[in-house]
Amino acid sequence: MARRRFVLFLVALSWFFGLFEASSGDADPIYQACVEQCGKTGCNFTSPGNSIDGPWYRQEPLYMQWKQWDCLSDCRYDCMLSREGERLKLGYKPAKYHGKWPFKRIYGIQEPVSVALSALNLAVQFHGWVSFFILVNYKLPFRPNKKTYYEYTGLWHIYAIFAMNTWFWSALFHSRDVDFTEKMDYSSAVALLGYSLLLAIIRVFNVRLEAARVMVAAPIIALVMTHILYLNFFQFDYGLNLKFCVAMGVLQMILWAVWAGVTRHPSRLKLWIVVLGSALAMLLEIYDFPPYQGLLDAHALWHATTIPLTYLWWSFVRDDSEFRTSSLIKKAK
Ligand SMILES: [Zn+2]
Repeated sequence: MARRRFVLFLVALSWFFGLFEASSGDADPIYQACVEQCGKTGCNFTSPGNSIDGPWYRQEPLYMQWKQWDCLSDCRYDCMLSREGERLKLGYKPAKYHGKWPFKRIYGIQEPVSVALSALNLAVQFHGWVSFFILVNYKLPFRPNKKTYYEYTGLWHIYAIFAMNTWFWSALFHSRDVDFTEKMDYSSAVALLGYSLLLAIIRVFNVRLEAARVMVAAPIIALVMTHILYLNFFQFDYGLNLKFCVAMGVLQMILWAVWAGVTRHPSRLKLWIVVLGSALAMLLEIYDFPPYQGLLDAHALWHATTIPLTYLWWSFVRDDSEFRTSSLIKKAK
């Protein structure tokens, strides 16, 4: 009985928060009744009699508690699918449930297309990084002090780590949306955006002195760290985070675009395409449409557009390292 009470408590809790989320699908009374009924009848566990709110030695093992959370998640999923099926027959458009579109799971993966595309993004980032690594370490000449001529080598290595970390957590988050994976995904993305802004400033303004670089980096790192700590330990504010990310994203795009317009860099066209492409891709995040066949939504398409852009981006980075190296050698002669 205690288990049922617990499930009912979860249902009540989700309903309570549903009031604030106010997304239409989960406010539907038929859906709510379905989830409630499913919690009563659908969650039969094998070891009756143990209580989740009793003393620790009477409590269920952790995996059983997990199973109950899973039960609610499964109930929501099954009710969502059946309700969406009914709504479709009645000619209604898909609705969001608990802030998310109705996706079909494949092997328990919540958004399989976004997971596959995140993995591809990770692979393209890795390929780009390795090709850059080989170029600067094995193909281009070194300075007499055994360092690369290119002044931004170390910064791009760190960029690659931030980018691959972001796509790793993106793949995990889209497979299973729980509090932890969501926080890791958002935090990684914010860290990557902050770092790429820093990199944009340093590259565009040709900041070469170590002291000047620290002066650029310190305030950005402080701001981004504060924002990440605020999100994780104070309030997970989606609206605020969106504004923060858009501000950082737009700022670096303007920097690159203006620079691409005034510089005589031989690969400025690649830069232009990446900036323009990223700006257009951002529209997909704004014009959010429901998933086609329960699989392909605007967010997944957005993850698809970053694959060719990333390829082109690393190609620009390789060109940049060759261009800087050759002009520095010419200067030295
Ligand atoms: Zn995503």
